[in-house]
Amino acid sequence: MIGLIGGMSWESSAEYYRLINESVKRRLGGLHSARSLMFSVDFAGIEELQSSGRWEDAGDRLVDAARRLERGGADLAVLCTNTMHRLADRIEREIEIPLLHIADATAVEIGARGMRSVGLLGTRYTMEQDFYRGRLSHRHGLEVLVPDEPARGLVHEVIYDELVLGRVEDASRTAYREVMAGLVERGAEGIILGCTEIGLLVGEGDATVPLFDTTRIHAERAVDAAFA
Ligand code: GLU
Repeated sequence: MIGLIGGMSWESSAEYYRLINESVKRRLGGLHSARSLMFSVDFAGIEELQSSGRWEDAGDRLVDAARRLERGGADLAVLCTNTMHRLADRIEREIEIPLLHIADATAVEIGARGMRSVGLLGTRYTMEQDFYRGRLSHRHGLEVLVPDEPARGLVHEVIYDELVLGRVEDASRTAYREVMAGLVERGAEGIILGCTEIGLLVGEGDATVPLFDTTRIHAERAVDAAFA
């Protein structure tokens, strides 16, 4: 049973739910669907803790969510957000079931495509802090390029002011295309959509290099783990 820590935001959690069910249906056919359990947090409180830098308090909430999934019978935990993987080590320490890390899942797919240099789009926390970029470079040997300012701010604001609220704007898609083109010019061979809502805005065709949608990759690896 796949345990999902959702609500960050629910717009992308709904995608995870759809993707894991589609994947199980593809593999087993007929009426089959995924055995899953989701604990969905109230994102307003989480966002306040993020923007005020109270990461350990946010960690308390996520550990509580993960434990609820564990008590409910989940065999693995999937944290449905890139940003909150800042707390992945702590969550892993405080639960018995494995946590399937979104950056590891993504890096394996990039490596399988033979790429070394990738662009990264996500929240400021994901683009700027070491928990994500560092993991990609130190553990997986990837060279990670992030947009310069003011593009980095734009990418962050589109996430928090639009995508997590379910707003998908053409102007923002155009802006993201330009940001991705800039990363390609700087040498990115692929681009990580390193925020679970970005796949709602852009997809293949919006860049000249392959896009690695962390939501899709993470959901698919969760189903692989469940089958294994
Ligand atoms: N879903 C987003 C991510 O993947 C951003 C929302 C959050 O801060 O959790 O990073």
